[in-house]
Amino acid sequence: MEKRDKIIEIRWHGRGGQGAVTSAELLALAAIEEGKFAQAFPSFGPERRGAPVLVFNRVSDKTPIRARVSVINPDIVVILDPGLIYITDVTAGLKEGGVIVINTTKAVVDIKSEFNGSWKLAVVNATSIARDTIGVPIVNTTMLGALVKATDIIELESLAEPLKERFGARAKGNSDACHRAYKETEIAELSGVVKKPTKTFETETFPSWQELLPGSVIPEAGNAKQYRTGDWKSESPIWDHQKCIKCGICYLFCPEGCIGQNKDGYFEANPYYCKGCGICARECWTEAIKMVEEE
Ligand code: SF4
Ligand code: SF4
Repeated sequence: MEKRDKIIEIRWHGRGGQGAVTSAELLALAAIEEGKFAQAFPSFGPERRGAPVLVFNRVSDKTPIRARVSVINPDIVVILDPGLIYITDVTAGLKEGGVIVINTTKAVVDIKSEFNGSWKLAVVNATSIARDTIGVPIVNTTMLGALVKATDIIELESLAEPLKERFGARAKGNSDACHRAYKETEIAELSGVVKKPTKTFETETFPSWQELLPGSVIPEAGNAKQYRTGDWKSESPIWDHQKCIKCGICYLFCPEGCIGQNKDGYFEANPYYCKGCGICARECWTEAIKMVEEE
């Protein structure tokens, strides 16, 4: 492959637990294996599984990379969770002619109207491939295969060694996922398709802290003011009113301040902001709260 005298910048959009950081690191290691310059680093706060995370790569064939700042104008965006396109502007700053690689169950024709720009769009059902090949819906290595197919930023074979080093006995499943995604990724050119109006969080009016939790003794908490943290959860608390004595301990301990009292005096969580941390269930001394898996 001809060497490019340009630094390629990549922004990964994932959720905590999906392995976006690992993908970016594997990509950088594979690029270095090819004699290129590369870097990988994440950008997230003290978040948990399910929270949106950003990870960045820079890869260059010939030019040493000195920048150590977040990627604002990426050449490529990789989206590990399709739901993120409705809660964050995943194409923000994406250069004209840039590439979008997305994990989705949809075909190109069904999803391309979500993106408004002159970009290349690559789609792959990474969740299904990861389930088949690795046994779990962790799509990071699968998405590497799709990324390589859409961009030829590295050779697919260059991932073999980093995968072995990272995953040991599990490397084969991850390598199979990567190769299958490479084969199954569907690519199309977009040309300024008009984006369908979608409801985004930026346009929503968020409640003030005191509206979220009237009379709160907690001065501030979590991210509930900035995000609908309810989208992050994999489990939700349910209350057993037979056991609840309305002591309010759960209300005091919820780090998102999203527990309120209903008209009967029982406590309940606001599903839009409860992020499923389970602290209320752990603190409830009458065991009136149980965490149940989200559908
Ligand atoms: S801590 Fe338990 S008993 Fe107390 S109000 Fe909450 S659910 Fe009810
Ligand atoms: S699980 Fe409980 S403590 Fe955690 S955010 Fe939800 S309501 Fe609050």
